[in-house]
Amino acid sequence: GADAILRRQRARESAARTYARSFPIVPVRASGMTIEGADGRRYLDCLSGAGSLALGHNHPVVDEAVRRTLDRGVPLHVLDLATPEKDDFTDALFATLPGRFRDRARVHFCGPAGTDAVEAALKLMETATGRRGLLAFTGAYHGMTAGALAVTGNVAVKAPLPATGAEVTRLPYPYAYRCPFGVGGDRSAEIAATYTERLLDDPAGGVVPSAAMIMEIVQGEGGAVPAPDGWVREMRRITAEREIPLIVDEVQTGVGRTGAFWAVEHSGVEPDAIVMSKAIGGGLPLAVIVYRDEYDGWLPGAHTGTFRGNTLAMAAGAATLRYVAREGLSERAAAIGARMMSRLDGLRAALPAIGDVRGRGLMIGVELVDPEGPTDSCGARPAAPRTAAAVRAACLRRGLIVELGGRYDATLRLLPPLTITDEEVEAVLDRLADAVAEVSV
Ligand code: PMP
Repeated sequence: GADAILRRQRARESAARTYARSFPIVPVRASGMTIEGADGRRYLDCLSGAGSLALGHNHPVVDEAVRRTLDRGVPLHVLDLATPEKDDFTDALFATLPGRFRDRARVHFCGPAGTDAVEAALKLMETATGRRGLLAFTGAYHGMTAGALAVTGNVAVKAPLPATGAEVTRLPYPYAYRCPFGVGGDRSAEIAATYTERLLDDPAGGVVPSAAMIMEIVQGEGGAVPAPDGWVREMRRITAEREIPLIVDEVQTGVGRTGAFWAVEHSGVEPDAIVMSKAIGGGLPLAVIVYRDEYDGWLPGAHTGTFRGNTLAMAAGAATLRYVAREGLSERAAAIGARMMSRLDGLRAALPAIGDVRGRGLMIGVELVDPEGPTDSCGARPAAPRTAAAVRAACLRRGLIVELGGRYDATLRLLPPLTITDEEVEAVLDRLADAVAEVSV
């Protein structure tokens, strides 16, 4: 039974598990946005495999692609040899890239996880520039391997960190609700850009020559914090003027989630490299970097690994990418996300425990605060991680899976599949509103 499974896993698995602590359920079946537990209870899943299930669980298009591939008896694993499935995935992927970037793009298949692709992107740019410094942002999350950890900004629970050797300068991310400069809104982004430029130009500032700047367009683990388009353009200008390659980490934001196929398209900025994983594999492990051909400076064997592109993941991924494009799911994510945020904004007005509602498309954050606490100079109240954990538990009791994130673990993160139905939107918001009201009275 479910209890025995939970007990055995608790006894035998590592203590580092987090999801399993927050959601003591044993999923046995899933379809679309619904997960069914071994006890027969059903849950609406707003976690979507940490954003990797763009089409939800077991979408027929993905299932069929996997089944058809298996039925053909293709080799499931042949390292980096050319296969029709890889060719087809690459076609589908390149078709999603913004035009100017696509024309000069190269792809490198990395290890199976997002962190592998981050690692590859940093190393590629170190090779190309011969520099060792890296520019990253406060609150960033890029992964758990050493290079990816070096540029991650929300490191508290991950410490102690392995020695990375990278000289990382952490620049302020424009987190408007709790701006590091004590000024919120658009002004915070402007100041963050000016500060960045001054710091890079300060001859005594101690910033070493940079191989790359790496950024998320909407910080995911950092609490669904969207960067203003103008700030992204400023970062592109600043890096271009100093010939610093710009790497955009779209592991979580990619494949339509923010309302554009790639989140960097919102700003019109052309990056030098995009890191991709999660949804590009249709729920199966796959990670790549796509970069401008002028950076393709590795010698054969310079960056290798055993699991570089699994045939089933490529088939599931190609089907997902094509379906998101064909069905206009980016536009749908933009529209539904805006509707959800507007209703959540209404809720914020009614419930003082909600300090901030933010996000882009279907990457939404609801930051919980102590309504009695003092406001800071941006007007923000103290973050309330215990309230947030209580709301998460109250959501689970109502059959809703939402995860926490953000600098203070006080942000409810909503990452529903792009295929979420209108009825599911209402159900998610009703259950969430009920849970916040129950906890914060
Ligand atoms: N970059 C970003 C922006 C992510 O959100 C994540 C995972 N949450 C990663 C990198 C790391 O990906 P993975 O967990 O697959 O290693």
